[in-house]
Amino acid sequence: MGEKTAQRLAFHVLKSPPEYARDLAAALLALEREVRLCSNCCNLTAQDPCAICRDPQRDERMLCVVESVPDLLAIERTREFRGRYHVLHGALSPLDGVGPDQLKLKELLARLHGQPASPVQEIIIATDPTVEGEATALYLARLIKPLGIRATRIAQGLPMGGDLEYADQVTLARALAGRREV
Ligand code: ZN
Repeated sequence: MGEKTAQRLAFHVLKSPPEYARDLAAALLALEREVRLCSNCCNLTAQDPCAICRDPQRDERMLCVVESVPDLLAIERTREFRGRYHVLHGALSPLDGVGPDQLKLKELLARLHGQPASPVQEIIIATDPTVEGEATALYLARLIKPLGIRATRIAQGLPMGGDLEYADQVTLARALAGRREV
């Protein structure tokens, strides 16, 4: 939380009746007590496994790997993806001391090597289009391909409502490389 948000929250609490602060404190304690990581996909959940892992309607052949829970929620909001997820809780960043062991990669490999054999046929790598996200995507692709699972990367290009003239070179180059038939 940024300093300004924290300040706004503090003023909001001070202006509210005393019960408000007590309720908020209770809610924060409950959050700390009840929310945990899904033992399967590492999503945040009050019930393990999480609702997505429990849902029999989700396509277990497709697995989407994301850096964070907010990224998972953003993909869920599109309603375009009906597979399952794996949350890494970060991206490779050697300068910040984040290596493969700091990410939920062991958990991912355990899922893919599970018994009975994993049903996953395609892994969609949906890490951020940043240096760290790209490094993580490459690392993942190298881990996944020897397992005979298809590794794909979400397309990157121009944001909707954008203007080519103002797009940066890398984004425009990616958009060209990721072109498809219309
Ligand atoms: Zn889960």
